[in-house]
Amino acid sequence: MLIDTHAHLSDTAFDGDRSAVLARALEAGVGVIVDIADSPDDWDRVLALCRSSHSPLLRCALGLHPYYADRDPDPVAEALARKAKPPEAVAFGEIGLDYARCRIAHEVQQRAFLRLLEAADASELPVVIHCRDSFADTLDLLEGFYRGRAKTGRFRGVLHCFSGKEPEAQRGVSLGFALGVDGPVTYPANDALRAALRRAGLAHLVLETDSPYLPPQASRGKRNEPAAVKEIAAGLAAALGETPEEVGRITSENAKELFRL
Ligand SMILES: [Zn+2]
Ligand SMILES: [Zn+2]
Repeated sequence: MLIDTHAHLSDTAFDGDRSAVLARALEAGVGVIVDIADSPDDWDRVLALCRSSHSPLLRCALGLHPYYADRDPDPVAEALARKAKPPEAVAFGEIGLDYARCRIAHEVQQRAFLRLLEAADASELPVVIHCRDSFADTLDLLEGFYRGRAKTGRFRGVLHCFSGKEPEAQRGVSLGFALGVDGPVTYPANDALRAALRRAGLAHLVLETDSPYLPPQASRGKRNEPAAVKEIAAGLAAALGETPEEVGRITSENAKELFRL
């Protein structure tokens, strides 16, 4: 069984054929998909999708993507504490820092990120971290935040769509974060990423597609979908010198532990 730990299944890109997309995921061996809600405006829709009966099993994370970090974080955090509850909602996220595309001031993003980390900690839920061109600040902020805080399970959360190098992978792992592995692991140019993932080790990795974004090599330029997690597993297996079956098994165990599935 494979687990897609990060897909934007409620994205309008899937409005025309969501059930066909889910059927293909099931056929590819995907047992669980974690649907990510980026903005409070999406939370109810994502929760409703999780509650309607589906196969594969749908779970979700509710968050505030850095793109929306200019909202007052206090009411967002309070609403999250009320709405983000298992069994449907298994994490807070995505939250984090985006210095690549997001025009919101870094300080404003950091304030929202910290406030939501506090809320997740109070709710005892793991966090899905978005980190784009912001590794130094993200890791500094996380290290500061978790210093002296007890860790209940093996994972505090996931650095989703991990795109860093070995030192960042090491820091993330030692903080108790899983690294999310996506389509880019299959891109020929990404040797540094593959080296970082090898160094981190399979015990700290989870699979994700980030659908409809980031398709693996065979479908670059097209819409991505959760069934592609199979190709990502194969790409990661090749990078690690493991079998795809072993990669599927261990990453699914990691994902279950991370999200307490
Ligand atoms: Zn993201
Ligand atoms: Zn995402």
